[in-house]
Amino acid sequence: MPTMTAKRDYYEVLGVSRNASEKEIAAAYRKLAIRYHPDSNPDDADATEKFKEAAEAYEVLSDADKRALYDQYGHAGLEAGNAAPHFTDVGDIFEAFGDLFGFGGLFGGGGGRRRPRQRRGADVRCDVTLDLEEAAKGVTKTVEFARSARCETCQGSGSKPGSQREVCRRCGGRGQVIQSAGILRVQTTCPYCHGAGSVISDPCGDCRGNGYVKQRVELEVAIPAGIDDSMRVRLAGEGEPSPDGGPRGDCYCFVTVRPHRLFQRDGDHLLLRLPVTYSQAALGARIEVPTLTGRAELEIPAGTQSGELFRLRSRGMPNVRGGPMGDLIVQTYIEVPKKLTPRQQELLRELAEVENSHVSPQRKSFLDKLTSYFTGEGES
Ligand SMILES: [Zn+2]
Ligand SMILES: [Zn+2]
Repeated sequence: MPTMTAKRDYYEVLGVSRNASEKEIAAAYRKLAIRYHPDSNPDDADATEKFKEAAEAYEVLSDADKRALYDQYGHAGLEAGNAAPHFTDVGDIFEAFGDLFGFGGLFGGGGGRRRPRQRRGADVRCDVTLDLEEAAKGVTKTVEFARSARCETCQGSGSKPGSQREVCRRCGGRGQVIQSAGILRVQTTCPYCHGAGSVISDPCGDCRGNGYVKQRVELEVAIPAGIDDSMRVRLAGEGEPSPDGGPRGDCYCFVTVRPHRLFQRDGDHLLLRLPVTYSQAALGARIEVPTLTGRAELEIPAGTQSGELFRLRSRGMPNVRGGPMGDLIVQTYIEVPKKLTPRQQELLRELAEVENSHVSPQRKSFLDKLTSYFTGEGES
């Protein structure tokens, strides 16, 4: 199931101020990590989520570069700078910095139950573009992207069919090599065969020995109603396969919402600029206004000004997290006709004559200012 990934503010997650010191950040993280530690909250998905969220926040805020990026551009900045943390499971977090705080000591053997690490497949990205109407209703879209698939020619082995792997000459097939550093002798994974003990002698021509080939994939993505521009929908497990039998990466579907010709979006609210005539504004009127879900009526009172705002409750966008609907905010502007019929001209001239003796308050103060400007008296 796709999960929404609009993220909480990292400072909020840790409960620290934006100018918190490194020490305060570490202390806040430690507190949360202990509270939501999986060992003390077995089978509690919510606690695990919180544990991950805190670890993410800590990873960013404890790194001066990432923190600066985040302070300036938020989550988007981390994405753009390829600095966004992607912890998929709790093991990733222990791997990254769990031991820093000595969880093993705290919880008695927490480190001992760690399984051998398998690398997770990489995440992939795809893009989808929606109309505002689709974003309002929610929609299923087909996305297409490239990801690796097992090479059929060599069945994923990377060896040309019929050829055999040969014993690694560097480690003699042990997968481990001894490295000396002064008096220390350290056993490490063989860098040549990556611990396999053997290497491909004759690489498969179709995948050049990778065992994988790029493949176009088509997937359906359910986009939830209320999604906004630059949000992402995660397709869990639809990313690259793991190189060593670990879990697949995820596919992140980046959403672009096309600008609408009538409505401007502001979070869950929609803004509509509505032209009204001078007489409608002056006398008041009931005006039909478009909404995303059909027509609505708006009553503007006599004396409505250009730029005035009217709110039609719950006629905006749905909230993507199931919160209250946004509003439609209508802003009036007085449209001056470019062409007039002789009759309109006649009436307006008549109106102008009346206005000479009955000056409206705004106009009067403007004329007052104009007079004092030319005579140089009464600075106001
Ligand atoms: Zn192959
Ligand atoms: Zn080797």
